[in-house]
Amino acid sequence: MSSKKEKKLKFNAAWDLDPAPEDSKHVSIKKQYDLFINGEFVKPNSKKYFATYNPATDEKISEVADADEKDVDKAVKAARAAFGKWSKLSGKERGKYIYRIARLMQERAREFAVIETMDGGKPIRESRDIDVPLAANHFFYYAGWADKLEYAFPNRNPKPLGVAGQIIPWNFPLLMAAWKIAPALAAGNTVVLKPAETTPLTALKLAELIRDSGLPKGVVNIITGAGKTGAAIVNHPDIDKIAFTGSTNVGKWIQKSIAGTDKKCTLELGGKAANIIFEDAPLDQAVEGIINGIFFNQGHVCCAGSRLFVQESVADIVIRKLKDRMETLRVGDPMDKNTDIGAINSKQQLLKIQEYIEIGKNEGGEIYQPSCSLPKKGNFCKPTIFLNVSQSHRIVQEEIFGPVLAIQTFRTIEEVIEKANNIPYGLSAGVWTDKGSKIFNLTSKLKAGVVWANTYNKFDPTSPFGGYKESGFGREGGLHGLGAYLTI
Ligand code: NAP
Ligand code: MG
Repeated sequence: MSSKKEKKLKFNAAWDLDPAPEDSKHVSIKKQYDLFINGEFVKPNSKKYFATYNPATDEKISEVADADEKDVDKAVKAARAAFGKWSKLSGKERGKYIYRIARLMQERAREFAVIETMDGGKPIRESRDIDVPLAANHFFYYAGWADKLEYAFPNRNPKPLGVAGQIIPWNFPLLMAAWKIAPALAAGNTVVLKPAETTPLTALKLAELIRDSGLPKGVVNIITGAGKTGAAIVNHPDIDKIAFTGSTNVGKWIQKSIAGTDKKCTLELGGKAANIIFEDAPLDQAVEGIINGIFFNQGHVCCAGSRLFVQESVADIVIRKLKDRMETLRVGDPMDKNTDIGAINSKQQLLKIQEYIEIGKNEGGEIYQPSCSLPKKGNFCKPTIFLNVSQSHRIVQEEIFGPVLAIQTFRTIEEVIEKANNIPYGLSAGVWTDKGSKIFNLTSKLKAGVVWANTYNKFDPTSPFGGYKESGFGREGGLHGLGAYLTI
């Protein structure tokens, strides 16, 4: 293609929200990324870099800097220096910057979507229609609160906490960065954020966007690295708040590490949600809800509906419809806009899922997978359901974080409430029924931070999200999410 044509394509790209597979050649990804500290990209202290791969092709996409304790210290110092001015800026001025970030994200939506899919493996349809628009919406939503903190928390003298250390996972890389950064800035805090090792690229694109937005230097710092970089953020003495989304194990370690300090903390951890189908539910819609609940983002979703409970009287018909629907799912190239299930985020995660599938079979579960074929290269897993499982099975109790559903039946409402709650997690749940009274009855008894009724996996910046028990504490989203970045 001539370079003139190529330029035109690039120019149009930001407005064209319908990327074709070959468009991945027309997003700009650098060969190497440095750390974003104090408004500029700087080399890591160790001079070390690590590769990030496309999980659908196993190809290396780029390499990113490996931040050590010295880099973390530099980022925290930049955030501390910026905090003085940023926290004293009027809410209206802060809001202007956050609106600008939101608008720039909309303008570059296509590029963000393509990079998110290349780096993480999720279907382009999801990054394009869900992740990126929702991330921009979070910035829009919290920009609106920046000059209304006094109204949001009347007579409570809301003040920012200081420097927030934010650590995010690989399943919704850009969206989790937005969930963390937008409320922190609106409340007047400054930020040091670390994306996950396997999906750093959209956070680094966001760093470029933030630089271009003219946000004062040091207000947002984005540093890449592995678990030890995250640990260095947690342990840094000049961090005022830790906001973490990730596994329950690391969440527990963080809580121990900050015990005895006055660091504030919110933890968004794992889940194993019950998706409950009553006999009076609209069954075809419920089947779509089951599919979306467990196969959205390859099941790499903390609130995935990974335990299905179907009322006995409709179990046969629901399972038949579910199997038929699974036959139609397209597993494969995440850049193809017709793909339903993309690539598993990493080899390591694929091995974990495959191990759980073996465990499920060995425990006596009856496995069903559709007849689809998987691509030869890359990390792929067939959508999988297990029948004939019970509460004691490991695939019922443990978070798999993949496209694997454990199915049980129930007779009475009391029975299903008990089974749904009999789990270490308490993040989310789904209820499908025609009766409003049943919904109210159940939602008050299910120990879950979010309960969806006759829908599943719906997210909105205005609505708080978070867990009970081993799913963590604190809420993100809505006013609750704003309050978590203020002393009130
Ligand atoms: P993870 O291993 O806990 O990693 C999450 C983040 O923490 C990554 O950036 C990771 O860096 C970093 N990290 C690892 N060890 C650390 C340490 N000792 N100190 C500080 N940071 C550390 O979790 P994951 O496997 O990436 O993500 C999957 C888990 O996240 C699932 O359990 C899922 O349920 C949970 N999750 C929860 C929510 C929610 O809102 N509740 C949302 C999404 C995911 P590296 O990437 O370099 O290891
Ligand atoms: Mg990657």
